[in-house]
Amino acid sequence: MAYGRVGVVTGANKGIGLAIVRQLALQYPKSHLHNGPFLIYLTARDQGRGETALKNLNEDSQLKQAKALKSDGGESEIKYHQLDITDLKSVQTFAEYLKQTHGDGIDFVINNAGIALNGFDANVVKTTLGCNYYNTMEACHTFLPLLKPTGRLINVASVSGHLNKYSDEVRQRFLSAKTERDITAIMQDFQSAVEAGKEKEAGFPSAAYAVSKAGLIGATKALARAEKEKGSQISINALCPGWVNTDMTKGKGTKTPDEGAQTPVMLALSDIKGATGEFWQNERPIEW
Ligand code: NDP
Repeated sequence: MAYGRVGVVTGANKGIGLAIVRQLALQYPKSHLHNGPFLIYLTARDQGRGETALKNLNEDSQLKQAKALKSDGGESEIKYHQLDITDLKSVQTFAEYLKQTHGDGIDFVINNAGIALNGFDANVVKTTLGCNYYNTMEACHTFLPLLKPTGRLINVASVSGHLNKYSDEVRQRFLSAKTERDITAIMQDFQSAVEAGKEKEAGFPSAAYAVSKAGLIGATKALARAEKEKGSQISINALCPGWVNTDMTKGKGTKTPDEGAQTPVMLALSDIKGATGEFWQNERPIEW
């Protein structure tokens, strides 16, 4: 089957990721269909949860009504594929599958998978930075060569990654970082400071999730800069979906998952005029 466009969403069995898949199917412009149908990979680390999510989407009345799904004569197809971003073998297996299946390349990857753990100690920091920073950036590097020349990488970060929580010195380090390695060095210093019980003295907040997302924004900007310097036209952006009502926010978020999906879907489907290295919220670039 030849597809006109192929996209991947990570952590898509629930919450914002699932809403992104649904909104992609609903909002895919009909004007793009002359190239063929739109294929979206709903990926999840757990096969049962991923397949249940897919089954529910296939029964979604709004999608059926909009004829957005292929099974109903529509123009989009959603497939499940296993993907645990913290499992190198899982990432490589999916990447190899994409390479074999879509020789012309894929159009976009939305790195949505993320965790927010309770508490604060060295283990929480290690696990949180592991998933939200290191593994997400590794996924970027694995998927980047599989993108079409004008493909898009979209990283779901958060306004909790704003730089207003740091000493002037650490803030300046973030802002003047030129490469991903510079950002990783800040993450390492944060981790070492937490292990020594001295993160506040070192200019960091006692907050694993916020620092992991600051790192993700910084590394996204650095990767975008590196790609641009190589002459690549791939656009690489980070975003905050807003304060969204999902399991992560324990029902406290004020936006619906569909509302939270708007900015990532816009970054995947709209003409963003080649914007790259930006941090977005409410469908606009914002200050980091
Ligand atoms: P949820 O906890 O509802 O969903 C998180 C998703 O990520 C789940 O599908 C989960 O899978 C998946 N996931 C976690 N770890 C992995 C992994 N190792 N590999 C693959 N998938 C994984 O959270 P949200 O939907 O609220 O959050 C989605 C993204 O949005 C996250 O990156 C989050 O940090 C970000 N965000 C959310 C905000 C909010 O207000 N909700 C605000 C700002 C940012 P499983 O079901 O198997 O656990």
